Amino acid sequence: MSFSSSCILPPAMLGILGGGQLGAMFVIAAKTMGYQVTVLDPDPNAPAAQYADVHLCAAFDDAAALQTMAGCAAVTTEFENVSADSMRWLAQYTEVSPSGDCVAIAQDRQQEKDWITRAGLATVPFVVICVDSDINSNLEEFLPGILKTATLGYDGKGQIEVGTVDELRTAFTQLQKVRCVLEKKVDLRAEISVVVARLDEQQTVCFPPAENQHENGILAYSLVPARLPQPVLQQAEYMALKLAHAMDYKGVLAVEMFVVGNEMQLVVNEIAPRPHNSGHYTLDACVSDQFQQQVRLMCGLPPAATDLLQPCCMANILGDVWPAGREPDWCTVLNHATACLHLYGKKQVRPGRKMGHFTVLAEDSAQAWQMARSLHLHLQNDAQNFCSTALNISC
Ligand code: ADP
Ligand code: MG
Repeated sequence: MSFSSSCILPPAMLGILGGGQLGAMFVIAAKTMGYQVTVLDPDPNAPAAQYADVHLCAAFDDAAALQTMAGCAAVTTEFENVSADSMRWLAQYTEVSPSGDCVAIAQDRQQEKDWITRAGLATVPFVVICVDSDINSNLEEFLPGILKTATLGYDGKGQIEVGTVDELRTAFTQLQKVRCVLEKKVDLRAEISVVVARLDEQQTVCFPPAENQHENGILAYSLVPARLPQPVLQQAEYMALKLAHAMDYKGVLAVEMFVVGNEMQLVVNEIAPRPHNSGHYTLDACVSDQFQQQVRLMCGLPPAATDLLQPCCMANILGDVWPAGREPDWCTVLNHATACLHLYGKKQVRPGRKMGHFTVLAEDSAQAWQMARSLHLHLQNDAQNFCSTALNISC
């Protein structure tokens, strides 16, 4: 592999739309590689701002801020709900990856499923619900199902489980009658995700699939290697690469998949046009990580090697373990010789908010998962004890 002289090299200024934890980890990777970074995010306390050279504290469609971003050598994004039009506008002046068109696909579950199908891949059975009259008894085949808003859903938000046509009507009203997809609720054997790093057709790699466990619709643990038969994992990688090629994707793409039924059929659930929570394990367990890949690809550099160096389990740390605002007891995690702690520096704590994560390395992923669960349980118990004994309040 080689790279052309048109590559963007350090200390060029890179731009990123969004300054959440994904933006922060991108900035750390870029700065480590010698680049400078401008972050656009309206939140003065955006996690990425603590590392960035420049923080443009403005709305994502702010004309002056976009003008400044247009002066960066290349621009990327850390979340899909940034305006695709802003990205298309920026592409007139600078390198933008992923493209506004790819981001637009990932913003909309209906479009996303159209692309998945067009790429020759399976989705769960679904139907689009736009208006009341779309709801009728013919929908029985999708029940029990999950009604999801077509846009703006994340971490299980904007979704309602429905068992009957009547419940579906109520749920549609609850979701303000915005355009939705009704998905059949499938029998999940497992959930996996594959993070793809694609520069072009020849230069595309992916990280080993992660086995994901959710709690209350939010990712809780990612185990790598996933504990599934090798052919299933190979098929998952093949499908993720196929989708990236079909979209002519440039950058880091995460593909979430369901492993359905005893036959272990793989269906694509959704995609994210950026590094993904389930790819955080790459920071501590792989030759390169998903944020370094994002930097490389936006700069026109070939993707780096993605080999897993050691089995691991990533655990998310949610705001729930900050009892009454008190900092959790980090000792146990920090005293563990193979646990790598990452805290995002978010100022506001809320239950369910992703505040950090840690990755435990072990001999195999099941062992890593066991250790991660016990560390996590310790954080939870400590929070609980603090509430019940020290303060005698319910947190
Ligand atoms: P989000 O954008 O919130 O991540 P997802 O569509 O990925 O939304 O749904 C969140 C979680 O809900 C999934 O990871 C899975 O555990 C569960 N889920 C979603 N859709 C289905 C489905 N059709 N059948 C079974 N479980 C589902
Ligand atoms: Mg999801």
